[in-house]
Amino acid sequence: EEAGVQRDRVVPAEEWLQKWAAGKTGFHKERGHPYKYLDVLVNGRSGLRIFFPLCGKAVEMKWLADLGHRVVGAEISERALREFFSEQGLPYREEAVPGVPGARLLQSTCGNISLYCCSIYDLSSAIIGKFDGVWDRGALVAVNPCDRQRYASLMISLMEKNSSYLLVTVLYDPNKHKGPPFYVPEGEMRSLFG
Ligand code: SAH
Repeated sequence: EEAGVQRDRVVPAEEWLQKWAAGKTGFHKERGHPYKYLDVLVNGRSGLRIFFPLCGKAVEMKWLADLGHRVVGAEISERALREFFSEQGLPYREEAVPGVPGARLLQSTCGNISLYCCSIYDLSSAIIGKFDGVWDRGALVAVNPCDRQRYASLMISLMEKNSSYLLVTVLYDPNKHKGPPFYVPEGEMRSLFG
């Protein structure tokens, strides 16, 4: 029964852009997550390619880049990406993305952080390649329930064989709290990624 809750709700892209414009970004964690989350994802490996779907201005992108990994992110809000580079004190350049009309690539000048400003659904492994790790915090839970299957299939298609996927979700009673984030029942996570 709980699986049916929130099923038909949709947060349109415009609403996310408005949140960023109004600074209503309570989901952003200025001080990041505990470092041990990074260790779980990296698991002793070096020089990884890490993907941040629905990246916002997550500070962990900078942390992983500083550890020598290459980071790629996807985010519809251009404001979020500009805030990321300016708040992290990173110079960046900007270019169009061949094959994805309207998309922009904002890339740190040293080249190790590449953030695509477009919908995640406009990307594929042909455009951004494959990854050794995915940092999914505030991403699956922000995806509209009707798009979950498509999102999960895309994530799986972006993963190298020995890739690891760090998924941060929230447990709560969906009948009492509305979100976002959306409520993702554990059984559904298993069927999406299992
Ligand atoms: N992962 C980030 C942001 C979580 S909030 C963090 O941990 O802070 C979800 C983000 O997804 C918002 O910044 C929103 O603008 C972005 N977003 C929503 N739909 C998207 C889509 N289809 N493609 C890319 N980004 C999207």
